[in-house]
Amino acid sequence: MTQVLVLVETADGAPVAATAEQFAAAAILGEPAAVVVGKDASKAAGALGKLGAVKVYAADGDFDARLVTPQVAALAAAVEAAKPSAVIVGSGPDAREAGARLAVRVGGAYQSDVIGISKDALVTQQAFGGAFTVTASGKGVQVISLREHSIEGSAPAAAGELVKLDISGDSTPFAKIESKQTEATASERPSLQAADIVVSGGRGLGSKEKFALMEELADTLGAALGASRAAVDAGYCEHNMQVGQTGTTVSPNLYIAVGISGAIQHLAGMQSSKTIVAINKDPNVPIFDIADFGIVGDLFQVVPQFIEAVKVRKNG
Ligand SMILES: Cc1cc2nc3c(=O)[nH]c(=O)nc-3n(C[C@H](O)[C@H](O)[C@H](O)COP(=O)(O)OP(=O)(O)OC[C@H]3O[C@@H](n4cnc5c(N)ncnc54)[C@H](O)[C@@H]3O)c2cc1C
Repeated sequence: MTQVLVLVETADGAPVAATAEQFAAAAILGEPAAVVVGKDASKAAGALGKLGAVKVYAADGDFDARLVTPQVAALAAAVEAAKPSAVIVGSGPDAREAGARLAVRVGGAYQSDVIGISKDALVTQQAFGGAFTVTASGKGVQVISLREHSIEGSAPAAAGELVKLDISGDSTPFAKIESKQTEATASERPSLQAADIVVSGGRGLGSKEKFALMEELADTLGAALGASRAAVDAGYCEHNMQVGQTGTTVSPNLYIAVGISGAIQHLAGMQSSKTIVAINKDPNVPIFDIADFGIVGDLFQVVPQFIEAVKVRKNG
C-alpha cells in the first residue's frame, strides 16, 4: 500500500488536535505516515504512532524562528523517501503555504479547501469563495489542504517507526522571521479553526457593548467567538475574529450566526459547517437559505433565552 504523508503541526511539542483527523483522511487513501519538523521532532514518534502513523519522518532542529521552508524541505525529503500518492496538510496559513510550495517543488497537484476525500483519490473542494463545490483529482503527488471537521473516524494505531531526515543540505534558504507579532489578547476560548462550535455576531448586535452578549453565548456553549466583517469594521470586536472570504474559514460541527445577513463573502467562510443555526429578525435574509435551523426574531430577546436554556440543561 502506498504511503500518504501528513504534515504534523505541533503546539508545545504535541501534535495539534486536527492531526487525528488528518491521519483518518490519510488512511482513506493509503498507509498514513507523519512528517514532523522542529526541536525534538523525533520524540513525537510514539504519539504519532498511536494516531495511526506507520512511519514518522522527523527533521530535528530549532526552526522556531523560521518561516515554512524547513517544513517544505522535510516534506520534499519525505516524498523522495516514501514515494507517497498524496500529502495531507492542514488549512491554516502556514500549512497552506507549505503545501503549495511542496506541490510546485515536486510537480504535484495542490488542492485547497478540501472538505471530503474518497478511496479513489477524488477530493471534494469548495471553490470560488464557496460558490461551487467541485470534485477533482490531480496528477502526480496530490497535496491536499484539508479543512477541519471534514472527515470522521480515526486511523488504527500503528508502529510509528522513526525515520530521521537530515534537511541541513537543502538548497532552499530557510527564510528567517525578523520580527514577530503575537496577539496581546489571551483567550480561554477555543480557536476559531479548531472549535467544535462557533458562534458569530454581526452588525445586528449594534455596538461593542452589546456584542458582549455574544461572549456570554460563546462561553455558555464552550464555543469560539467569530464575527462578520461588518461587526469587525464597526469596532464591535477584534479583526482576528472575522469569519469569511477575507477572514478565517471555519467548518465546525455547529455554527450559530446571530444578526448576520449572510452575504456571499461571509458564507464563503462558514457554509461547510455541519449544522448552521441563524438568528435574524428579517425572514428574507440569505443566511436562512443555508441554515439548518432558523429563528426569526429579535436577537436581544432570543439569545438571552437561549443562554438560559443551555444553562438549565447543563445544570440539570
Ligand atoms: C472583497 C470583500 C470581502 C469581504 N469579506 C468578508 C468576510 O470575510 N466576512 C464577512 O462577514 N463579510 C465580508 N465582506 C462584507 C460582506 O459583503 C457584508 O457586508 C458583511 O458580511 C455584512 O455583515 P453583517 O451580516 O453583519 O451585516 P448586515 O448585512 O448589515 O446584516 C445585519 C443583519 O442583522 C439583522 N439584525 C439587525 N438587528 C437585529 C436584531 N435586533 N435581531 C436580529 N437580527 C437583527 C438584520 O436583519 C441584518 O440581516 C466582504 C466584502 C467584500 C466586498
